[in-house]
Amino acid sequence: MAKAASLACLVLAAAGLGTQAWGLSAAAGKIDITPSAERRGVYLAGFGAKGRRPSGVHDPLYAHLLVLKDGPRVVALASLDLLGFYRNDVEDLRRLSGFNGPDHHLFVAATHNHSGPDTLGFWGPWPGASGVNKRWQRRTRDRVAAALRDLEAHLREVRLTGWHGRLDPQGLCRDNRDPVILDSDLAALEFSDRNGRSVATIVNWSCHAEVLGRDNLLITADFPGFLCGKVERERGGTCLFFNGAIGGLLTPERVLGRDGFAEASRIGTAVAGAALRGLAGASLRQEHPALDFHSRLVPVPIENSRYLLALPALTFGHRLFDSAGRPLAGWQAYWLALRQVLGVLSPEARPWIETEVSVLDMGPARLLGIPGEAFPELVIGGYDGRYRSGHPLVKPENADPPDLAAAPRPPYLKDFIRRPLPMVVGLANDEIGYLVPKYDFKIRDNRLMLPRLPGDHYEETNSIGPAATGIIVHTAEGLLGDHP
Ligand SMILES: [Zn+2]
Repeated sequence: MAKAASLACLVLAAAGLGTQAWGLSAAAGKIDITPSAERRGVYLAGFGAKGRRPSGVHDPLYAHLLVLKDGPRVVALASLDLLGFYRNDVEDLRRLSGFNGPDHHLFVAATHNHSGPDTLGFWGPWPGASGVNKRWQRRTRDRVAAALRDLEAHLREVRLTGWHGRLDPQGLCRDNRDPVILDSDLAALEFSDRNGRSVATIVNWSCHAEVLGRDNLLITADFPGFLCGKVERERGGTCLFFNGAIGGLLTPERVLGRDGFAEASRIGTAVAGAALRGLAGASLRQEHPALDFHSRLVPVPIENSRYLLALPALTFGHRLFDSAGRPLAGWQAYWLALRQVLGVLSPEARPWIETEVSVLDMGPARLLGIPGEAFPELVIGGYDGRYRSGHPLVKPENADPPDLAAAPRPPYLKDFIRRPLPMVVGLANDEIGYLVPKYDFKIRDNRLMLPRLPGDHYEETNSIGPAATGIIVHTAEGLLGDHP
């Protein structure tokens, strides 16, 4: 049985808060983005290139949307029931919606759903072929942009209630790669209007949305769909689920023999129930929560040889740059991939992409947006076993155990957030794959990234490369430090 314990419950003095010139206003809603399963050219994302064509729809996929306004500053949040959303799509969505600076910002994250359409170009009919249905993707982007603009015209004044606690992951989520470190933080943030009606609830928890496995052919939003369904039924308003640091790899703990949908429902319902109980007892309330958004662009090199071989497919999600930051033309992706195939691409000639680290403040809550799947240990540490949740820190049978003596020392990313309600959001404003701690990034052959070493080293093969982790962690620390 999952247990939730309140960690942060403090009353913020009303004095001083009322002196702010602006009140926060909000509007929220969701749009159905389910592709028609019968439509040609829809392939399900995740679990290797198996050419999974959906056979039907179990439950709809949504874009859950929230627009917040504080004085001249407007920030939109979008949670998409998708596996990932590339930087180019984020930029397009910002441009189309008008949430494109200097006072309008968009924070968008995918739930990492493994039973939705391929949005990244990895899961087509055969390995190397994209499974993206471009028409559906364009239409979805246009509809989300229009919905965001519409929400901005329907803002009403809100106040905020927040809760941050722990949810015991036993029976809900497990870590299948050593060291076993589970981020058990659960955070919830509710915006309600002057009449006490809920406008939106944000829930932040960490686990891969892959309760339904590779054999499932029905489109579903997986456990986040059940989670948001319960929150919306019980509280009203719109629920936005944001996944956390899920690399390393945090995967649902299924009860053997049970139907996948029953399991997705069980896990989503348990997380939602804990978040709602936390909110019901929360004393963290603000009448005039301040709103702020900062982001920083980060260049990272593409070191993974598999990504280099697939460069032409990858470039629809990112623009390429050379190591000096000069943009590369589209045809150069083919040239670079060919040189990689021939084994003559030198490390200096590898291309770079630009990604983004972001910080979003909503009163006592601070969201740190990481553009991929960070290992939880980068966020919370736990190399001493404090977050192993009853499992051995390192499996005795592990043929290639991590060298914990070489693991990074504190402070870790969450230590830099310094807010009563810290949230780390993965797959935020981009998806660049796993962010593996450098000490544990192990591959035998850097050119092929294969074969995997014995033990659990799947994540390296789905990472942009070992350098990206340090660059992104360093940038996040700098961004948090510059905006204390
Ligand atoms: Zn993943």
